[in-house]
Amino acid sequence: MSRAKNVLTLFFAVLVSASLFAQNELPARWEELTGPDFVKAIQKAQGTCMLPFGIIEKHGPHLPLGTDLIDVRYATDQAAKQEYAVIFPPYYFGQIFEARHQPGTVAYSLQLQLQLLQETTNEMSRNGCKKILIVNGHGGNESLLPLFAQSQLASKRDYVVYVLGIGGRRREGGPAVRDKLDMHAGESETSTMLIAAPNLVHMDRAKDQSGADQARLSALPENLYTGIWWYARFPNHYSGDGSLGNRALGEFDMKQWIAAIADSVKGIKADQTSLKLQNEFFEQAEHPLDTPQPLPTK
Ligand SMILES: [Zn+2]
Repeated sequence: MSRAKNVLTLFFAVLVSASLFAQNELPARWEELTGPDFVKAIQKAQGTCMLPFGIIEKHGPHLPLGTDLIDVRYATDQAAKQEYAVIFPPYYFGQIFEARHQPGTVAYSLQLQLQLLQETTNEMSRNGCKKILIVNGHGGNESLLPLFAQSQLASKRDYVVYVLGIGGRRREGGPAVRDKLDMHAGESETSTMLIAAPNLVHMDRAKDQSGADQARLSALPENLYTGIWWYARFPNHYSGDGSLGNRALGEFDMKQWIAAIADSVKGIKADQTSLKLQNEFFEQAEHPLDTPQPLPTK
C-alpha cells in the first residue's frame, strides 16, 4: 500500500515538474505569450519575427480552404523549434483574385492587402520585431511579396523585411513526384497536408473534379502575360492529381521546407548589413544631390 502511494507521489512529482517545464518554455506564437513573456521572447529571438502568410481559397475538391495557411503555420511552428523566432498570429490577407469564382475564397482589394501588410509589419516593428521574415505559403502571393519588400525603400523605417518565397522550399532528392502538373492541390500539396492536418484531407474525393490543363489560351505567344491565364488553364482551381498524395512525399517536402525556414531565421539573425545599408540609403535619399559620385578606381 505505502509502496503504491510512493509510486503515485513520484508519478505526480514528475507530472508537475513536466508541466512546470512546459510553462517555463517560451512559446513562439505571439498570441500565446503573456505581455511580460513577450519581452523575453523578443530578446530570445534577437528581434527576429516570422509572418507566415497563407490564404483562404479552394484547394481542389478534397483539401480545406485554409490549406496554405495551415501548411505554412505548421512549417513555421516546427522551424521555430529549430531556430527560435516569434510567430505572428494567423494571416491570410493576400492576393487571390483568380479564385473569386469559387466558394469560400476571401479576396480583399489590392489596396487593402498592401496597407494591411504595411501596418502589420509597422506594428511588429513597434513591438520590437526589427527583422521580419515573411514566409509565403501561397503561390498567388509570389508577385505581391517581392513588390511589398521593394516598396520598403519608399520611406525611412527602422526594420528590415525579408521574404521566403514558395521557391525557397528546397527540393533535392526524396520521393519522385508523379503528378505532371502539380501546380495547385495536386500531389505535392495533398502530401504536405497529410502531414500538417491529415484529418482535413479527403483522399476519396480527389478525383471528384478535374485538375487537367484546359489550355484555352494556348494560341497566345508564350511570353505574353494576362490575368485570366490561370482560369483559362484551370477553371476548377485545381491543377494536377491530388489522389497521388502520400505521406512519404509530404514528410520529405515538409522537412525540407522547415529546414529552409530555420536556415533563413539563422541567416537573418546573423545579418548585420541590411539595416546598416538601409539606413545609409535612406540618409542619402533625403538629399540625393549630395550622394557621392565616385570615379571608377584605376
Ligand atoms: Zn495551396
